[in-house]
Amino acid sequence: MKNYFQPEIETMPVEEIKKLQSERLVKQVKYVYDNVAYYRAKMDEKGVKPEDIKGIEDLYKLPFVEKDELRDQYPYGFLAVPLSDVVRIHSTSGTTGRRVVAFYTAEDLNVWDECCARAIVAAGGSKEDVVHVCYGYGLFTGGPGLNGGSHRVGSMTLPMSSGNTERQIRFMQDLGSTILCCTPSYAAAIGEEITKQGIRDELKLKAGIFGAEPWTDEMRKDIEKSLGIKAYDIYGLTEISGPGVSFECEEQNGMHIQEDHFIPEIINPETGEVLPEGEVGELVFTTITKKAFPLLRYRTRDLCRLTRKKCSCGRTHIRMTKLMGRSDDMMVVKGVNVWPSQIEQVLFRLGYQANYLIVVDRANNKDSIEVNVEKTPAMAADPDYDTAQATAKIVAGLKNMLGIKVEVNIVEPETIVRSEGKAKRVIDRRHLYTMM
Ligand SMILES: [Zn+2]
Repeated sequence: MKNYFQPEIETMPVEEIKKLQSERLVKQVKYVYDNVAYYRAKMDEKGVKPEDIKGIEDLYKLPFVEKDELRDQYPYGFLAVPLSDVVRIHSTSGTTGRRVVAFYTAEDLNVWDECCARAIVAAGGSKEDVVHVCYGYGLFTGGPGLNGGSHRVGSMTLPMSSGNTERQIRFMQDLGSTILCCTPSYAAAIGEEITKQGIRDELKLKAGIFGAEPWTDEMRKDIEKSLGIKAYDIYGLTEISGPGVSFECEEQNGMHIQEDHFIPEIINPETGEVLPEGEVGELVFTTITKKAFPLLRYRTRDLCRLTRKKCSCGRTHIRMTKLMGRSDDMMVVKGVNVWPSQIEQVLFRLGYQANYLIVVDRANNKDSIEVNVEKTPAMAADPDYDTAQATAKIVAGLKNMLGIKVEVNIVEPETIVRSEGKAKRVIDRRHLYTMM
């Protein structure tokens, strides 16, 4: 048997997958209509009734859900079960203003664990493996997701969380970790340290499952070399469940979307029109088994392409390419979602104006983010203005807002180049997205 966790589902003929999706969709739409007043109002406004949805061919009739709506409805607006049925929450990274809280019933967690278990088995995992999870634990879905998947597979699970690289490596050596799960940046950092110490041969690592931020194939090669492993991509988002919405198989050529739980669509981000298979557009997900936080047609803002081309791994579920960009201006820096507007908000609050430039870079597979901001003329004229103190204030404000350390440079008025037309406030030198 090949590396399948649930072969009957993972290799189900496409026609049967579609039939299953249709059945589940019809039920789910009725369920959401009956239990989420906010979405019911949206359907009513659009003139769509649950009876109008007879199968996946009718999906396009439903209204989209956008991230801003999830924020506006914080915390309970999308909750579809009594709170007594909720057993856990997770939340997106970012600030209070940007947070989305996702709810899970026990069954939702079961499904999520199952999705992550499929990803671990696809990467060669079994109960003989030692799965080393150094995604963050806590509100972030990375750690708990892979942790649950590893339990389900029956592997020994090391809930390391992130940081303390020295201890990570010691546990890898002493406990024989075979599968590493973390962000690609952190995998690269661990790889660098292992190379420095010259101890690669003492490790038993064979595979890694890396996600939560976009990464290039060049980075994949680096990590595979430094850690002596095969590196697999995994994709997911808190709003939809967490990591494991899709995952790579041994072909490392696109991620299979778990179609028995999620229906993907690709739309034109401008018009909302559904695009034919193979075209690049924005990824939209409909959850068809989730109970506590069931989203229909959720717009991810991630751009990619889908393909049903046969995969030699034998899995029949549709594949998505690596992400090709965003249809909004969000960036993932050090594994955290960052919107330029959040940075602007901090600067405005501290009395600065919209004369700033954000520079994001990646050297040795490590992200850096720098904010250059001009003093206002009043600040420049103020003899008591203390640049060091002012810098520290901005750094602290940004840390509080974003959760990461940002380099800040305060510069003299009118030194940042003004652009004609739309101001360019972000330079991202990482070139993370390659059009395929
Ligand atoms: Zn495959």
